[in-house]
Order: sequence, then structure tokens, then C-alpha cells
Amino acid sequence: MKIILFGSPGSGKGTQAAMLAEYLNIKRVSLGDILRGEVEKDSQLGRKVKSYMEGGLLVPDNLVSRVIEENINIPGFILEGYPRNLEQAKRLEGILKKSNADVDFFIYLDIDQQIIINRLGKRRICRSCGANYHLEEESSEKEGICDSCGGELIQRKDDNPEVIKKRWEVFSNESKSILDFYQAKGKLVNIDGRGNKLEIFERVKKILR
Ligand code: AMP
Repeated sequence: MKIILFGSPGSGKGTQAAMLAEYLNIKRVSLGDILRGEVEKDSQLGRKVKSYMEGGLLVPDNLVSRVIEENINIPGFILEGYPRNLEQAKRLEGILKKSNADVDFFIYLDIDQQIIINRLGKRRICRSCGANYHLEEESSEKEGICDSCGGELIQRKDDNPEVIKKRWEVFSNESKSILDFYQAKGKLVNIDGRGNKLEIFERVKKILR
């Protein structure tokens, strides 16, 4: 099964991708997590992408497409954070075509801007495993410590009001063309992204049945 999870920053795509990967026992590929890992390692790629990420801008397509090609597992994947514009969607189609493959579902988690601002402003992530928390609605048992792996919880540098606004703008500009692309291919599924993660996950599972 080849599934793409698409949504604005804070739509919950990372959380749903992790739950779905576990449920289906399929590899999850999160481009944002991979890029953050490269920045943390201060690798050559990390140094190239850092300023784009901190400014809430998309990293150039040629850099991220290579990362995707190296990381996806053609027989099955849950891909999150890629593609994010039409050019990337076409590049992904090209990568999959080489193996005579195509995506099965392009799942769009639909949610409005007000919810996003609240979610992102109070989001904390685990530095080690990437798990997501929310200071009020989904806090960790011990403050600042990840329930799953004991790692340190931090606030992402790009989860500040100014950059959140920029990321939302980038998303709004790019989303229509990509949604149209997958709609035309008959792969688009819209999911209501409101509610808690379990409610949303039930909606996601329903479409897979
Ligand atoms: P995310 O964790 O998905 O919110 O991504 C964090 C940041 O990583 C984005 O704001 C971009 O700077 C960069 N990024 C993630 N995915 C992509 C992509 N598909 N294309 C370009 N940049 C990306």
C-alpha cells in the first residue's frame, strides 16, 4: 500500500502517519523529520536546508526529491510532508513509474487556520523520536519528557507565530494545484481534520476498508 498524507502545518499529518504506519506495518517516511535530523547532525544537506526551514519556506525541489528517492520503499510506504507542490507531485510520479508503481491513496486532512495556530503554538516534539505533544490537550506524563522514549521535549524553531503564518501562506498557495492533480488521478480522499487523534484515525481507517 502506498499512501500519502497531506495537510497544512499542524493538520496532524505526522501523528496520523505514525499511527497508520504502525497499524499497517508499513514504513513511514516523514520528509520534515528527515530534514530536521540533517540539520541536527549539521550535515552538508542540513546546512543547505536550515535557513529555508527556519523561515517557513519550502526547500528547493531538487534537494528534497533526492532525499525521497533514497528513502521510499516502493512496495509500501506512508509518505508525509511530500509532495508539497505540483512539481514535487510530478517528480514523485516519475520516481514511482520507474518501478511501474503509483500511489493508492492521497489523503488530505482538511482543517482551518484557527485550529492550526492553537495546535502549533502549543506543540512540543521529542528531540529523539519525533513524537508530538500539545501542552494542554495532549501533554506528556512528565513535563518536558517524552512518554514513548524518555527523550527531551522541545519546541520546533519554526513553531513561532511569524513562521507559522509564513508556512500557512506557503501551504495555501501550493495546495490547490496538488489537490487538483490527485483528484484528476482519482486518488484524492478528503478527511475532516477536526477532533482528537483517535477520532481522526477512525476516519482514516474507514477509507482504507
Ligand atoms: P514539516 O515538518 O512537514 O512541517 O516540515 C518542516 C519544514 O521542512 C517545512 O517548513 C519546509 O521548510 C521543509 N520541508 C518539509 N517538507 C518539504 C517539502 N516537501 N518540500 C520542501 N520543503 C519541505
